[in-house]
Amino acid sequence: VAESSKIAAIYDAAKSSKEVIVVTHISPDADAVGSSLGLALLLEKNGIEANCFFSEKLPVKLLSLVDKNRVFFAEDELIEKLNNGALLIGVDCATKKRLGEVVYKNFSLAKATINIDHHASNENWGELNWVVPDAAATAEMIFGFSNSLSLKLNSDIANLLYAGILDDTGSFCFSNTSGKTLRVSADLIDAGANPAEISNNLYFQVPEKVWRLRSKSLLTLRLEHQGRVGLMFVTQEMLNETGCLSEDTEGLVDIIRSIQGVEVAFFVREIENGFKVSARSKNPEIDVNSFASFFGGGGHKAAAGFTIVDNLDTALDLITKKSKDILV
Ligand code: 5GP
Ligand code: MN
Repeated sequence: VAESSKIAAIYDAAKSSKEVIVVTHISPDADAVGSSLGLALLLEKNGIEANCFFSEKLPVKLLSLVDKNRVFFAEDELIEKLNNGALLIGVDCATKKRLGEVVYKNFSLAKATINIDHHASNENWGELNWVVPDAAATAEMIFGFSNSLSLKLNSDIANLLYAGILDDTGSFCFSNTSGKTLRVSADLIDAGANPAEISNNLYFQVPEKVWRLRSKSLLTLRLEHQGRVGLMFVTQEMLNETGCLSEDTEGLVDIIRSIQGVEVAFFVREIENGFKVSARSKNPEIDVNSFASFFGGGGHKAAAGFTIVDNLDTALDLITKKSKDILV
């Protein structure tokens, strides 16, 4: 009941605005792009002008999802739209900071702000907050939004939302996959989503250089605490050697996670000022969200992230030492 009134309030706010701008978290993944563009297309289809603003280039593998008409990248345009009374909706983003510097800086220009997300660590940064930690993906919530309002989907929207769910559930393998997740996914296929095409675009078009990078990274594998914790890394030098970008490291944490005996996986990649860590838990008793929040990050119980501003050896040692505390 509370949820349907939130949905109604969000829809009313969108309808009464001249325009809606949908934004999402930095380093966008398939749920970020799928839920933001899915929502924008859904609103547009129902007579509400809506566009997505991204402050950075999108990962190549997500470009197949993107409708160029509904997406813009220029800060000037963002400022102009916000000054003209646009409503700002942020999806799949736990903190105001993770909306990225450009949105963060211009946040107060928005007529109103709405936060739609499924992260347990969400800080309720919006004026209206619809946060459902049980949802497998924000895309699952956007489907619920559409369903609750009896809005019509089309195959583009269905593909976007399906992609978000597929990716955030690790292709329906992770513990966040619920009966509802599968029912929603089935409805999305009935509404025109093409599962084989989406999987193919997201997972089965890996360039050779990315596999070269993966093979280099595998050589860095460390198993700690009787093999219950696995760590692997990628340095900037390894990216240079293989001609890869940071985005090409996606999926490496899942390789660590897949190792027999590993309960917690950490993938560490070099960024400008330190190291970004992706953490995954395979054990329902072990919460990597609280582990990540210890380092100032966040996410979900089974998948979280954080940054360490230090050198590689110190970062690896810090994670290794601290991870002993969470093994139950
Ligand atoms: P990934 O490891 O795939 O980048 O992120 C896993 C999950 O943790 C995602 O839901 C992501 O949004 C969240 N996450 C990753 N890094 C951070 C961070 O630095 N801060 C917060 N609050 N969440 C993060
Ligand atoms: Mn998500």
